[in-house]
Amino acid sequence: MNKYLNNVLERTKKLNNNEPEFLQAVEEVLTSIEPVIDAHSEYENSALLERMTEPERCILFRVPWVNDKGEVIVNRGYRIQFSSLIGPYKGGLRFHPSVNLSIMKFLGFEQIFKNALTGLPIGGAKGGSDFDPKGKSDNEIMRFCQSFMTELYRHIGQDVDVPAGDIGVGGREIGYLFGQYKRIRNAYEGGVLTGKDICYGGSLARKEATGYGLMYFMREMLNAHNNSLNGKIVTISGSGNVAIYAAQKAYAMGAKVVAMSDSNGYIYDENGIDIESVKNIKEVQRGRIKEYINKHPQAQYKESKVWEIKADIALPCATQNDITLEDAKKLVSNGVIAIGEGANMPCTYEATQYFIKNNVLVAPAKAANAGGVATSAIEMSQNSMRYYYNFEEVDQKLEQIMVNIFKQCKNASEKYNHNGNYVIGANIAAFEKLASAMTMQGIV
Ligand code: NDP
Repeated sequence: MNKYLNNVLERTKKLNNNEPEFLQAVEEVLTSIEPVIDAHSEYENSALLERMTEPERCILFRVPWVNDKGEVIVNRGYRIQFSSLIGPYKGGLRFHPSVNLSIMKFLGFEQIFKNALTGLPIGGAKGGSDFDPKGKSDNEIMRFCQSFMTELYRHIGQDVDVPAGDIGVGGREIGYLFGQYKRIRNAYEGGVLTGKDICYGGSLARKEATGYGLMYFMREMLNAHNNSLNGKIVTISGSGNVAIYAAQKAYAMGAKVVAMSDSNGYIYDENGIDIESVKNIKEVQRGRIKEYINKHPQAQYKESKVWEIKADIALPCATQNDITLEDAKKLVSNGVIAIGEGANMPCTYEATQYFIKNNVLVAPAKAANAGGVATSAIEMSQNSMRYYYNFEEVDQKLEQIMVNIFKQCKNASEKYNHNGNYVIGANIAAFEKLASAMTMQGIV
């Protein structure tokens, strides 16, 4: 490995040795940009990689709130403002008990590259809390969101840092967060949060954007290899925002989704999953995926991982490190042809390498799930213009952005002789842009 790259990797490991997810994300990027580093010896003199792997700011705060029984609960809040190189910090908020500094930093780091690929003026950030929204009443969710925003508000702003949703943070939570921000600031600053409902400044098609964008990328990738989604069998992990709209678009493109999951297990429906039913269970009733079989007795429910089901295309849309090497081997032996990463870093490093070695196409998260943040940026621009596009207008812009992202990944993979390796393509395309911006802005 290039000596400078190796030194930076060692340094990063030493400084963050108890942050495995963050190290995994950094290692994946650094090991794939070697040809660019070889061609730019000046990067070492300006400590470009050391600066790129160090967050501009990590904010950690206490979130005290009172539950319905009158007990005081204290959670931990985070906002990692990783990079403002090409725009205000931008990235979602995750509420999940697994949230810790390592997960927040990995997500913030990935976000810088993803946002660069969109071609829109947005920097990289991530935040959240170890708060678990499962089983909480609406009032508890509201009190938690209000307490969270009572600290977060001083660090964000429509030209400073613009959070959005992620796992456990959807339209309901964004509404409570926005209400509290507006109350504290005594101003309607629509662009301070994205993922807002349409009735108070949100964008049409934002809810659908990550899942739809994933499928636009998948379509482009398959086309480039003389294939298509038509008639393909698809399995999906997760049944949240990304999973539901990826499934909806997969059907629209001629594929059949036979399995979806949540953190307890998966449903398998040979005839094809009824997405409206899943939407109703998850979005309206906030229930569990196993409830699907009550209305669809032909379907099966199993407390296991969805990757044991045979599929042409697998879409991990739940969480990080969901597909391990063992899962990858199972998928390959069952004939999978493509993986579309709807979630962030859903495949372990070993799983990704195994897919690539076995000629399975991989649509990497940084590129393939960038449709969500891209549409968030379109929401911000609508807030600034005080004018709203209709659904088709936003969807067309999203599609164009995803087509462009795929082109960037393809061109970069070909330029450095890694044809068909879009993991390397995405990392290099994003890195080249960021490195240029960093060089132009001096040592900051
Ligand atoms: P949601 O909260 O809407 O849904 C998450 C889904 O994943 C649920 O079905 C959940 O099941 C499942 N899940 C979460 N954690 C785990 C776990 N540890 N093990 C197994 N299943 C789990 O989140 P989103 O759909 O918004 O996000 C999904 C992924 O997509 C995340 O990786 C996120 O970072 C990424 N992403 C999201 C974007 C967006 O616009 N929302 C944009 C880009 C990326 P359960 O209900 O049982 O917890």
